[in-house]
Amino acid sequence: MIKSDLEIAHASKMRPISEIASKLGIAHDDLRPYGKYVAKLPLKLIDQEKLKGKKLILVTAITPTKSGEGKTTVSIGLSEGLNILGVKTAVVLREPSLGPVFGMKGGAAGGGYSQVLPMESINLHFTGDFAAVEKAHNLLSALLDNHIHSQKNTLNIDPRKIIWKRVMDMNERALRDIVIGLGGSAQGIPRESGFDITAASEVMAALCLSNDLMDLKEKLGNIIIGYTYQDEPVRAHQLKAQGAMAALMKHTIMPNLVQTIEGNPAIIHGGPFANIAQGSNSIIATKMGLSLADFVVTEAGFASDLGGEKFLDLKCQYGNLKPDVAVIVATIRALKSHAGMPYEELKNPNSQAVKDGLPNLDKHIENMKHFMLTPVVAINKFATDSEEEINAVLAHCDKMGVKVALSEGWEKGGNGCLDLAQTVKEAAESGMSNFTPLYHFDWSIEQKIETVARKIYGAAEVEYSVKAKQQIKLFNKIGLDKLPICIAKTQYSLSDDPQLINKPTGFTIKIREFDIAAGAGFIIPIAGTIMRMPGLPSKPAAENIDIDAEGNITGLF
Ligand code: ADP
Ligand code: MG
Repeated sequence: MIKSDLEIAHASKMRPISEIASKLGIAHDDLRPYGKYVAKLPLKLIDQEKLKGKKLILVTAITPTKSGEGKTTVSIGLSEGLNILGVKTAVVLREPSLGPVFGMKGGAAGGGYSQVLPMESINLHFTGDFAAVEKAHNLLSALLDNHIHSQKNTLNIDPRKIIWKRVMDMNERALRDIVIGLGGSAQGIPRESGFDITAASEVMAALCLSNDLMDLKEKLGNIIIGYTYQDEPVRAHQLKAQGAMAALMKHTIMPNLVQTIEGNPAIIHGGPFANIAQGSNSIIATKMGLSLADFVVTEAGFASDLGGEKFLDLKCQYGNLKPDVAVIVATIRALKSHAGMPYEELKNPNSQAVKDGLPNLDKHIENMKHFMLTPVVAINKFATDSEEEINAVLAHCDKMGVKVALSEGWEKGGNGCLDLAQTVKEAAESGMSNFTPLYHFDWSIEQKIETVARKIYGAAEVEYSVKAKQQIKLFNKIGLDKLPICIAKTQYSLSDDPQLINKPTGFTIKIREFDIAAGAGFIIPIAGTIMRMPGLPSKPAAENIDIDAEGNITGLF
């Protein structure tokens, strides 16, 4: 019988966190332990000098099915494999959001024999970072409504133009749109508001793009909460919010150290969405990993057109990071889905469908080459994959001259990823990559969007709605046009239409409107409808989760 992720995690013997820390050369005194198996790491352990010559491996993917193609699992397996080869490696990941844990997708701590531990704790609350982000965000909301009520709205904020909502780390569709301030003149000014999920908070995005606490405080102060009656932006510092918000994040800014199943270091920090935000862990955590280990393996959400592009254009430019290799996770099932096979049939062997889906993989390979990065394709092997199907992908990559390896980390841990680790190590040490972002921040908004849409999505055209055009004018006027862009679109297609599978061409990307994250430091062109507060499915994963009198948790996938 196949063991569940939680059973595998429980069967692994965890080492005290000080043992993991000493592998990274961290002195006992520098650890901030949260219990026996988790510790926060102080920022003084980041050493700019030590980043030199270190290798940064980005793990991205082809366009996924709704199940996810295993980037987290492959990232963990690959880092176990590199450690077996004697390369001092840390895997650096995002923190899971509670919404998906109780909803459909499940946790974000890897799977099978490639997991980070203690998985229950990582998936449920962890060190309270999400809670602190939520509190900081909602403090700003409270100060804002209090300003309008108790301070007679001296900032002249137009309540109809407030864009700052509230957040909560739960899939709670009933709170998406609400009316607040009802109940009479003592309860504030009635107006529309709503809740987003915490991962969608700009505070989360700001945390993950900050270089230190003072930088974070400045970013929080720059958040635009809405506009005055004269259309002037109103920022959080005008409500004197940033000091208290940053104070709530004193511990949150420190990355969390945990361990993999094989006792190797894993650093987990921050969890912004990959559509309306940058979709990868904090710059601080990545730099921490690079300061303490020789190789860092890190994941960016969704495929190369979403998290991958944002990691490279946004995060790497802000953090001054230079990745060395891009691992592209491909699965047989996703390739077949790009040939049009229905989701329920993806487990049936069909090597012709695999071949027909390969143009999608080719596009993601091309995308990484646009950034001058050496791609390595990792075929994340599932038990249902046939040899013929796998050979079709191997042969195709060989023909194209692209490095490829099988990843069997889910089934076998690090030993299932030795080929992949060797391939990645050689690619990283070859010095072949010469990372170059696609655009510079000082290009015009349209130029930035068109570059990403044409080069990465393969679009023929970009079209702007009337509203989007007006917003571009406003941004140019108030000086937001020099911010990088973070395009929000579907993860199920390279285009902005989820129905266009495989490698679509000739399509037009339609920018409906923009959101802004002026504090975190980007503008968000929105192509399609974007969900900032998910709902629970008809059969929520929460129904299977339980705990006994001894505190043993079951049913967590
Ligand atoms: P991503 O990070 O790309 O969203 P994950 O690594 O979280 O993907 O994997 C998604 C789900 O698929 C997880 O539940 C994981 O356990 C499972 N999974 C990943 N790889 C495999 C595999 N090779 N075989 C079976 N299940 C897998
Ligand atoms: Mg993941």
